[in-house]
Amino acid sequence: MRRIVSLLLILLLLSGCASPGTNGPAPAKDDSQTEAPASPEQEGEETPPEPEPYTILNPAVAPEGGSRDGVSYVPWDGVVEHLFFHPVVAYPEQAFDGDAAADGIDDFMVTAGEYLAILQSVYEKGFVLVDIADVWSEVTGEDGNPHMVRNTLYIPEGKKPLILSFDDTNYYPYMLGNGFSYKLILGEDGKVWSWGLDPAGKEVVSRDLDAIPILDKFVEEHPDFSPFGAKGCLSLTGYEGILGYRTQTSTEGWTEEQEANRQKEREAVKPIIAELKRTGWTFGSHTWGHIRLGTKSLDHIQADTQRWADEVGSLVGPTKVLFYPHGERPDGDDWKKTGPVFQYLQSQGFRIFCSVGINSFSWIKKDISAVICDRLHPDGTTLRGSEKVVGWYAPFYDTKEIIDLESRPERPVRWMNPPA
Ligand SMILES: [Zn+2]
Repeated sequence: MRRIVSLLLILLLLSGCASPGTNGPAPAKDDSQTEAPASPEQEGEETPPEPEPYTILNPAVAPEGGSRDGVSYVPWDGVVEHLFFHPVVAYPEQAFDGDAAADGIDDFMVTAGEYLAILQSVYEKGFVLVDIADVWSEVTGEDGNPHMVRNTLYIPEGKKPLILSFDDTNYYPYMLGNGFSYKLILGEDGKVWSWGLDPAGKEVVSRDLDAIPILDKFVEEHPDFSPFGAKGCLSLTGYEGILGYRTQTSTEGWTEEQEANRQKEREAVKPIIAELKRTGWTFGSHTWGHIRLGTKSLDHIQADTQRWADEVGSLVGPTKVLFYPHGERPDGDDWKKTGPVFQYLQSQGFRIFCSVGINSFSWIKKDISAVICDRLHPDGTTLRGSEKVVGWYAPFYDTKEIIDLESRPERPVRWMNPPA
């Protein structure tokens, strides 16, 4: 039953089909697919590699003298753009094989190749990454009440700040065997890699097939893309575990064996979370059950929020960022009103509430300490969108150069066929 409920949730999000995959085989290296140095097998116990140093800086703090490493930093009070992605398609031929999930994946995802091309484009257009939590701060006002303020960011001269977020970084079972990576792992070099099976069923460990290692690698090759060390904010649900590890509970017939496996999965994911955090990744809530915050009862939302804290927050730490599932706003409207659901969520520590929209709109609420912000969504719906939609993305990339029509299914592309 749980599977069916999960599946329905996913169907609402994307459409899809479930497949087993609770406890994948131990990571194995496929040297033909990787560029990592293959370390020789050593006798005795493994010594973990010394991690490369990684510096994280606060963009709201100006460097002393206005420059750092020969780069001038200037204040930025303009719009902070925000793009979000779902997991990227590693194997288009498998994702777009015409099954029930194919159109949903086409609508809501980009391929690994398209994603890399988008990163290249935003980099060339002068964007630099900032972490969402550094863009606003909570301060105490003259009335003694806390409220949010937009920070002045100190950005390398000539550059523009950009937030990236990644929804549903959970590696849902329906995605496994359907064109996506299966989980994140630590490679022999101590870095984050993806693990999965290719369409032929062969194990693949890679840094080129998943949004997270692709960005890590891109920043290694273009360190000026991330002058503060920021990467992206991973928006996690909990109902099918996180990052490919089955850390969730179930209310139905939970056995000791299942609990033992869950504890094993919790231990296994901890070093990956630690390495992600160390290298500039942060975490936000996407609710435990990918629930609709505009329509679910307050009781349901409270239980869900507690469960996220117990099963996900206990691993990734507290967060003040909430990404609305389906983009659905609490109480039906979070901009003009502050309803009981919004108040409850704010009382649980959330301060930055993210929806989805046509630009990087943000609004600091006056009656409660919170900011709401929209995000743009590079995906099939917008890559195939009308001239108007494509125009919204022009500051970031030329859609015609990004969309991979050879890999994607044959479906309408509105900017190619404008209405007469
Ligand atoms: Zn989602």
